[in-house]
Amino acid sequence: MSQQDIKAVIFDIDGTLSQKNSWWELAEGFGATKEESIGIYEDNLSGKLTQPEAGARVLEMWTRKGPVSKEKFTKILSAIPLRDESLEVAGYLKSKGMLICPITGSNEIYAELVAKKIGADDFYANAKLFWDDKGNLKDFSYEINQSDIKLKQFHEFCQKFNLKPEECIPVGDSYNDYELFRITGRGIAIRTQYEDKVLEELAWKVVNNLSEIKEIIK
Ligand SMILES: [Mg+2]
Repeated sequence: MSQQDIKAVIFDIDGTLSQKNSWWELAEGFGATKEESIGIYEDNLSGKLTQPEAGARVLEMWTRKGPVSKEKFTKILSAIPLRDESLEVAGYLKSKGMLICPITGSNEIYAELVAKKIGADDFYANAKLFWDDKGNLKDFSYEINQSDIKLKQFHEFCQKFNLKPEECIPVGDSYNDYELFRITGRGIAIRTQYEDKVLEELAWKVVNNLSEIKEIIK
């Protein structure tokens, strides 16, 4: 396949476009700890907590010190910086006529904020948030199998923009990007502090810095 056939770049957010992890930032922003957040996630993965139990634990952790307004939630997420290279690479890809779309295992508010910052054409998120009449968080839904959700959302994206999977390049660092790497055969793995080495086995290219994408997609 030639470079001309590349029509879209799909970005993971946590670890990839941003050096920070949005789940940990939320936990800390609401007065809990990164460790508690990781503990709930791991107990959910291992089956120690069912999905509804894990969701309830996350909600309890976030709201322990009082109601969580949409405004406060958005403020914490807005403050998470993107990597220095993210805007530059997004701008470069757009100048080449590519579509760009973040697909994240994080929540919908964060996905939208990041999509706006990088000028993305679309965005998808795993976690959905539900607010009460006063604008406070009342519920939270989330799928633990992030890889399958990302794949489903990727297919929706392809359908919406009339693209074939192999015309899209996923860029990511985590196990949840695995299915996108498999289906496109064109994954770019970025080596980060969170990196799952399993991605490198499937990757089309491996980079240490996002700006290397400009050398790959010319
Ligand atoms: Mg990631």
